[in-house]
Amino acid sequence: MASLYIHIPFCLGKCEYCSFNSYPGMEALFSRYVAAVNEEVVHHFFSGKTGTLDTIFFGGGTPSILSADQIGHILGCCREYFGVSDEAEITLEANPKTLDFMKLLQLRQAGINRISIGVQSFIDAELAMLGRLHSAQNSQDCVRDAIGAGFTDISLDLMYGVPGQTPEQWRWNLECALALEPTHLSLYQLGIEEGTPFAVRQQRGEIELPAEGEIVTMDELSIDLCRSKGLEQYEISNFARPGHECLHNLNYWYNLDYIAAGAGAVGFYQGERTRNVSEPQSYCQIVERGDSLLVESEKLSPEASFRETVIMGLRMVKGVSSTALFERFNIRLQEYYGDTLTPLLADGYVEFTDTHFRLTKKGRFLANRVLTELV
Ligand code: SF4
Repeated sequence: MASLYIHIPFCLGKCEYCSFNSYPGMEALFSRYVAAVNEEVVHHFFSGKTGTLDTIFFGGGTPSILSADQIGHILGCCREYFGVSDEAEITLEANPKTLDFMKLLQLRQAGINRISIGVQSFIDAELAMLGRLHSAQNSQDCVRDAIGAGFTDISLDLMYGVPGQTPEQWRWNLECALALEPTHLSLYQLGIEEGTPFAVRQQRGEIELPAEGEIVTMDELSIDLCRSKGLEQYEISNFARPGHECLHNLNYWYNLDYIAAGAGAVGFYQGERTRNVSEPQSYCQIVERGDSLLVESEKLSPEASFRETVIMGLRMVKGVSSTALFERFNIRLQEYYGDTLTPLLADGYVEFTDTHFRLTKKGRFLANRVLTELV
């Protein structure tokens, strides 16, 4: 499967918890940036990489901050230089504040067929605390407009474990989201990242995250409520109706190749991980000069690739196939990890099925700790 990630690093404002490569107030750069992304796409084509694309993912930042014409322009360039398969999954991440019915219609007509809406919360006080610039009503209107515009693949992002949140508030958020009948939900636990306003406020004792026991209750609520509405957990943070799993991200969790364009975009192709320069203005200048965008390039050894494939694959509920791993790397999982697995198996964090090695439900709740043992 051939996959392309396109990073759009612009946002309406900067959220209090955000450590992503995203910048508010750069509207003047948008059209130059779109031209630069198209130029990079052409460059990939001429360097002979990949074939017809099966997935394209506009991530950010806030890709929906661009006009539908600008998104359509980039898609046109992808069609011309790579080819895009008829069945391709083409996702756009969106902020509800940047969309209305007409724009959604235009995006659908431009070829976007999956929309991932950054709702984060249906409680206005939580949205304000997170520094989000939209309201719960904006999100509800946005989902209804997306349905009206013909989108049948709608994913909502929600954030849990935010300061002061109780399991009951999380239940409310989930119920509001599920009432809108999305085909996919991404439920992310808030982490406090260094260098963000939240990190400073946490240090000052102004905000406090929910206790671990409450987080476990929220995790259980997520699984139960989603299941009751037909959405199954298929990855630690992701739930979908059958057949609506995100193909682009599955490709990522299988640790398969994907190319990437845009400022700060990270790609992985034939065992080599690359990263582009992050700052959007520098990105444009470098593309215009025709110089290399790469600020990092690392060729992974087969053994490092094997470990990464295990770690990424364990994020999926079904886990990793021992046979597929052996066929790909000629390494036997049980022999490779040896005694490291003994306590994890004994404590019930991981298990072997007939075909797969996976985290148990208990292991998924403590995934970061368990996966650290296998890195
Ligand atoms: S919208 Fe997303 S990328 Fe933009 S500032 Fe907020 S969290 Fe960061």
